[in-house]
Amino acid sequence: MNKIESLVRGNVRSLCPYSTARDEYQGSIGVFLDANESPYDNGVNRYPDPHQKQLKARLSQIKGVPAENIFLGNGSDEAIDLMYRIFCEPGKDNAVMIAPSYGMYSVAADINDIEVRMVPLAAEFALPKQALLDACDANTKLMFICSPNNPSGNAYELDEIIDIIKTFPGIVIVDEAYVDFSTKGSLRALVNEYENLVVLQTLSKAWGMAGLRLGMAFAQPYIIRLMSMVKYPYNICQATQDAVMRLLEEPVDEKVKEIVEQRESVASQLNVFSCVKKVYPSDANFLLVEFDDADAMYEHLLKDGIIVRNRNKVMGCKNCLRLTIGLPEENVKMINSISEYDCVIGK
Ligand SMILES: *Cc1c(COP(=O)(O)O)cnc(C)c1O
Repeated sequence: MNKIESLVRGNVRSLCPYSTARDEYQGSIGVFLDANESPYDNGVNRYPDPHQKQLKARLSQIKGVPAENIFLGNGSDEAIDLMYRIFCEPGKDNAVMIAPSYGMYSVAADINDIEVRMVPLAAEFALPKQALLDACDANTKLMFICSPNNPSGNAYELDEIIDIIKTFPGIVIVDEAYVDFSTKGSLRALVNEYENLVVLQTLSKAWGMAGLRLGMAFAQPYIIRLMSMVKYPYNICQATQDAVMRLLEEPVDEKVKEIVEQRESVASQLNVFSCVKKVYPSDANFLLVEFDDADAMYEHLLKDGIIVRNRNKVMGCKNCLRLTIGLPEENVKMINSISEYDCVIGK
């Protein structure tokens, strides 16, 4: 058994996955009487491709990664949950993660009865490399690193993350949901070099398809095969596969560029307000901003019909709000509302 195989739960290693009749026969078929579907064509009467071959081929071109290194899930959240179900023995194993970070890592751990070990980020939200490694023991199967990190907004140097991948013997999951807004780059091209690396990306942010639910995981073929075995067979519905194929033909580079420009413009406008204590540097499509009184600012913005994310109660984010960058006119509304608070209410 190789190193990665030995990390896999015994029941998953010996799993015999569900297979469909169409899996077992690869020829040209004109009459489908195998799956108890309705024969009346309404566009969705047939089961979708459980392997999402067409979609993976297109994403393989766009991402420059072979299709055998790609898993597609119902959002990144499905891939996160699968990591626990494949590698972690409930009530025994644990996962190490940076804090503050994306909430789903610990929710999915709790659902699967996996111990969570949170390691606070260092000053200025730097990666606490040694503390992450120190938090591990023989039962640590997974380590989650989000870069650019939500909610802090900063991306880590690839070399720093690679050091951890080389040192930690378990699976390192690098969540790159916001990578399109960053100049630091992606680790996805290295999944065949590092057998314990899983990179998550999503169509929910830069690609503008949050409503379709499509998350990607990049990893070595063995891990991809495990994920495909454990997932629900038809996890990506036909409507999503069709809509994604269509929307992938519309490039988003210009929109991403505008959001990044808006991010820098909003950051510099916020910096002049006395109610703003700090605008953290961001490699994402949001800004983490420390206010004099985050709860009061949150209520003030709500009163103006603007909702942002209050992170005041999150570790290391006291008095911080997370502001998503919207359309230019939406950002103006937010700035005007903050300006009104700054001049009138805050004084
Ligand atoms: C938004 C986000 C995701 C995306 O989740 P989906 O389920 O793909 O919509 C993943 N990770 C982080 C850190 C996020 O902020």
